[in-house]
Amino acid sequence: MALAPVLLQMSPDDNVAIVGNAGGLPLGAVLPDGTTLIDAVPQAHKVTLSAIAQGEPVRRYGVVIGYATQDLAAGRWVHDRLLSMPAAPGLTDLPKATRTAATGAAMQVPDTVARATFMGYRNPDGSVGTRNLLGITTTVQCVAGVLANAMTRITQELLPKYPNVDGAVALDHAYGCGVAIDAPDAIIPIRTVRNISLNPNFGGELMVVSLGCEKLQPERLLPLGSIPVAAVSDGACEVPGLDVVRLQDNQHLGFQAMIQAIVDAADRHLQRLNTRRREPVPISELVVGVQCGGSDALSGVTANPLVGRVTDWLVGAGATVMFSENTEVRDAVDQLTARAATVEVADAIVRELAWYDAYLQRGQVDRSANTTPGNKAGGLSNITEKAMGSIVKSGHRAIDHVLSPGEKLKPTQKGLVFAATPASDFICGTLQLAAGMNLHLFTTGRGTPYGLAECPVLKIATRTDLANRWHDLMDVNAGCIADGECTLDEMALTLFTLMVDVASGRRKSWAEHWGLHNQRVLFNPAPIT
Ligand code: CA
Repeated sequence: MALAPVLLQMSPDDNVAIVGNAGGLPLGAVLPDGTTLIDAVPQAHKVTLSAIAQGEPVRRYGVVIGYATQDLAAGRWVHDRLLSMPAAPGLTDLPKATRTAATGAAMQVPDTVARATFMGYRNPDGSVGTRNLLGITTTVQCVAGVLANAMTRITQELLPKYPNVDGAVALDHAYGCGVAIDAPDAIIPIRTVRNISLNPNFGGELMVVSLGCEKLQPERLLPLGSIPVAAVSDGACEVPGLDVVRLQDNQHLGFQAMIQAIVDAADRHLQRLNTRRREPVPISELVVGVQCGGSDALSGVTANPLVGRVTDWLVGAGATVMFSENTEVRDAVDQLTARAATVEVADAIVRELAWYDAYLQRGQVDRSANTTPGNKAGGLSNITEKAMGSIVKSGHRAIDHVLSPGEKLKPTQKGLVFAATPASDFICGTLQLAAGMNLHLFTTGRGTPYGLAECPVLKIATRTDLANRWHDLMDVNAGCIADGECTLDEMALTLFTLMVDVASGRRKSWAEHWGLHNQRVLFNPAPIT
């Protein structure tokens, strides 16, 4: 017996819908309105609900996602070659802070969320960590090999002595020398490295490994005034206020001496970190970064709306949620500026997206360079369609703050934040760490084993098929929403409960369990020399 077709239409005036059935629908399948499919349509791909003439708009999410490149009869599979991409909306004459506050049952924060606490590590600067990690900052890539060698000893010899410490992370990166360090855009990678070392999960314990001759000197990376008092040096190196091991210093006679100096410095910081204990803190201390990677057409139907619901709850409960990915919000800029809490916030959104347009233009591309072969195979025809599904992660509330790439949230900045970043998973995650993220939600339809060493990452599958195949990589299956096996609210509570357990250290994400860590990848729009 043929299964009943499952069609997911996002808005009443859409002229396409998404096929929800696992395995798709065959040629000849009859839709609920009597239309017979004239193509086989894969799962998560679009099918025409009515005839669309060449040049006419194709609508999904109630917006034009493209124009038909030929006459399309009802019941056709609409893949990317049948759609031309609309122009990006302009950045002038946008509505600014015009939308009235979102209301309705969906915006009510459940009591269990509003009153929730998690077990976190309070930091001297007022932030709260979800993990108790030693982060070892580096000024330059030259030291990465030596530090990696020292990390083996730190992990094997020191960490077993300090059971209250969750781990140690070498914050290595490809920056620091061979770069135009005085270029205006160099501020982005420099403040990214600085602010990652100040991430709440490192407890304010600053320790730096430097080569000595590099352009990014320790005092330039972490100038006095940018450093919390608790991090002030007790090391042997004389950089003011900083605990620095500088490999070119005369005192290091050979490789083993360098390793010993790093291990000794790490030991001092680990002793202090080991005295820290978790304590109950209000849910408002969560700083959640949301992003997607390896998206498909179900991303905007299941996983991203799920994250959007949790975002609405968390922000309503006083917590902070950051959304990012410039090219995936660009087509919805008018929605963002309308949702800005103030005209100043709307102007900041426009400033960031205009800067990014110019950045892409310098490279002779535009936002359409975002979509991947996997996105298209997953049913996303172009960046306009991808953006409409991506922005859903930000929920419905007013946007309170905007961060430029690599900037850090101030302790007073709570609520919904647009942290402007590229959409690249690793670069976005790196910049959200710099912004102060202490928990990461990541949605995927195609599947990615993404993880970060600095912060727990919870991965949410858009499809049951992916969740089943990657049963020990995906933390949550939002596919049950499309299957009709669960409701959005039920899954939102499940996800929220898991977030509290993981933030409290009672559970690990699958990425943590397996030790899956992607590299920090810095966004450096400035020249290399
Ligand atoms: Ca991404």
